[in-house]
Amino acid sequence: MTRKLSEAKIVLASHNKGKLKEISALLEPFGIEVVSAGDLGFEEPEETENTFAGNARIKAHFAANASGLPALSDDSGLEVDALDGAPGVYTADWAETPNGRDFPMAMAKVQGLLDEKSAPAPRKARFCCTLCLAWPDGHDEVFAGTVSGELVWPMRGVHGFGFDPVFLPEGESETFGEMDPDKKHGMSHRADAFRKLVAGCFD
Ligand code: IMP
Repeated sequence: MTRKLSEAKIVLASHNKGKLKEISALLEPFGIEVVSAGDLGFEEPEETENTFAGNARIKAHFAANASGLPALSDDSGLEVDALDGAPGVYTADWAETPNGRDFPMAMAKVQGLLDEKSAPAPRKARFCCTLCLAWPDGHDEVFAGTVSGELVWPMRGVHGFGFDPVFLPEGESETFGEMDPDKKHGMSHRADAFRKLVAGCFD
């Protein structure tokens, strides 16, 4: 039995603007008041685990403890088959520079590694998302979602965030960067995990 969310207000345990926008849109129909960890002035805890679920739990428990409210976190990333699943949980790290995150650089790095290996097309990849809903008493519920596709080059489209411009979902002709955001919200790894969260924890 999963625990139901009975509280009317939750903390979104993320500082990533792209994720905050997408998760707020997914939560909107449920009439739950949402406040972000950044708005509450919380620091970002260190992500010391090597799984999406481990890092999602760190973020959600940190925000639930600090706020006294249930907290929802998202840990996500891109797994590329020809790179043995990299960058995976380290997707955000691959974009780090001394001046902040640079995703065009990270996408070019992935493309360069695939070219070095002469990886044949289609260069299969998947986005993974793990959502964790944690309560201040230490209980949590964890849900994982994925969306499969392939990587394209050069980058296409200006919507979304992160690696969206190079990710072509299976059966589609537009990358997540080209696609209408509402369409992405209906089919993404985040939407997949969110559907499971709703089925498990929302009445
Ligand atoms: P983290 O979960 O904060 O460690 O970061 C996950 C990283 O994965 C993000 O910074 C993005 O680069 C990438 N990512 C996760 N979800 C998406 C998505 O929906 N579109 C594009 N990139 C994503």
